[in-house]
Amino acid sequence: MAARLAPRSSRAWLTAVSRGRGPPLLPRPPWAGLLPAARSLGAAAMSSGPLWRSEGFVGGGWVKAPAVFPVRNPATGAELAQVADCGVAEARAAVRAAYEAGAAWSAVPAKERGVLLRKWHNLMIENKDDLAKLITAENGKPLREAQGEILYSAAFLEWFAEEARRIYGDIIPSSAKDRKSLVLKQPVGVAAIITPWNFPSAMITRKVGAALAAGCTVVVKPAEDTPLSALALAELANQAGIPAGVYNVIPCSRQQAPAVGELLCTDPLVAKISFTGSTATGKILLRQAADTVKRVSMELGGHAPFIVFDSADVDKAVSGALASKYRNSGQTCVCSNRFLVQKGIHDAFVEKFAQAIKKELRVGNGFEEGTTQGPLINEKAVEKVERHIDDAVSQGASVVTGGKRHSYGKNFFEPTLLSNVTTSMLCTQEETFGPLAPVIKFNTEEEALAIANSANVGLAGYFFSRDPAQIWRVAERLEVGMVGVNEGLLSAVECPFGGVKQSGLGREGSKYGIDEYLEIKYVCFGGLQ
Ligand code: NAD
Repeated sequence: MAARLAPRSSRAWLTAVSRGRGPPLLPRPPWAGLLPAARSLGAAAMSSGPLWRSEGFVGGGWVKAPAVFPVRNPATGAELAQVADCGVAEARAAVRAAYEAGAAWSAVPAKERGVLLRKWHNLMIENKDDLAKLITAENGKPLREAQGEILYSAAFLEWFAEEARRIYGDIIPSSAKDRKSLVLKQPVGVAAIITPWNFPSAMITRKVGAALAAGCTVVVKPAEDTPLSALALAELANQAGIPAGVYNVIPCSRQQAPAVGELLCTDPLVAKISFTGSTATGKILLRQAADTVKRVSMELGGHAPFIVFDSADVDKAVSGALASKYRNSGQTCVCSNRFLVQKGIHDAFVEKFAQAIKKELRVGNGFEEGTTQGPLINEKAVEKVERHIDDAVSQGASVVTGGKRHSYGKNFFEPTLLSNVTTSMLCTQEETFGPLAPVIKFNTEEEALAIANSANVGLAGYFFSRDPAQIWRVAERLEVGMVGVNEGLLSAVECPFGGVKQSGLGREGSKYGIDEYLEIKYVCFGGLQ
């Protein structure tokens, strides 16, 4: 424990992000092995090879769509691929394929489903470097972080390969002498899965691993910015021997997403919707799923508070803040979005946080060695960060460091720290989803909790304190689904991921994640005397 809480030195937080024990620095340039064009950092990287797929994957085969849409590298704007723009017809066909495969898949013994998931995991590990390069190309995150995501993503397949065999029912002591009461757990059926671009691989396996282990079949609609990782996973699922129709992928453009989403939410053959993305989209899907009363899991937006109490170790708080805020350039739903710092430690924290940002973060192309901050996903995301900063500064906030677009390119933004921030500013009222850390000064624990809990969402929350009584009090009172105590990174496959309030419904990963794909059936045996 002591070692985990030790201050993280330069780049060490990135190592933790890449699951630490993750890959060492590569002996050759990370883009070696890609096509020549890719060596110019960001041209059309990897436009061939077995993992490079641009068609949909339905019923075990690659399918075209009437149209295609471009997928671009957010670092350079270069086109990476023209991907099948699946519409309602393709979505319906995918649902049908998943439905038809369902009976056979749910009858496969749990152990064998686990073996197939494990094979899929092993193939991900064998291909981890290429899969990571795909993520960096389509999402922009630094290659080191992408490598970490692939290990994290594969670990969900491994975890649920093991959990498949632990789907136990129950025998309930009956109150009637001539009855026996049993509980069976059964797969819900076809699960439609809609995922975001910020973790192009892990957001898929976290859902699909649980679904397949439970005996469900799936239709995945990946984000339009990052469909290539989902399609590479389809290729590997196929190689692993996952039967036709069990894992289907229907990429589509943003223009098609509402129609495809509506089909998935209303088709009676779909039993379950699992979504990760914004709260606004989640609400649309919830409404659409209501008519056919589908099961739903929603992993929605966050607005994580990061509280530093006077009793905190300031260096550890700074390390935690750096990791929690700037991973994936601030584009994770568990990124700290509001820093609440008690008045006694405030000045020291702000000064050291600013120093650490300047010393440890480097903006650049994700394929470049040493980059810690890749581009934001698109210009809209950059504009939102700008809007939040302009609003805060116009109301009296001070820019401690950063504050503007980075000279590297139009989607790049300087890691930014604001002080003198108040709760009336936009950046403390909604998720920024970018590299902006606004610091609010507070006086008392009550005040910090009131600010933290004033949000209508509650995904993750973090605080730093060395007072054991305060640690218990605050951990219990924070209105969030996940709490980091003296820790800025908390995701782990064996721990439940999810939020309260408008951050969503249900939990993913962990022993609880599989329940989202299981029905409880009560069986009453009568006349037994
Ligand atoms: P988004 O909601 O715009 O898009 C997410 C997915 O939904 C994409 O696949 C998109 O194509 C699809 N989509 C959009 N509109 C749709 C519609 N009308 N019908 C069907 N599908 C539709 O979110 P985003 O911009 O991709 O991701 C950023 C947001 O996601 C942030 O708010 C972040 O907090 C949240 N997020 C949450 C988690 C979590 O686990 N809670 C994880 C990652 C991201």
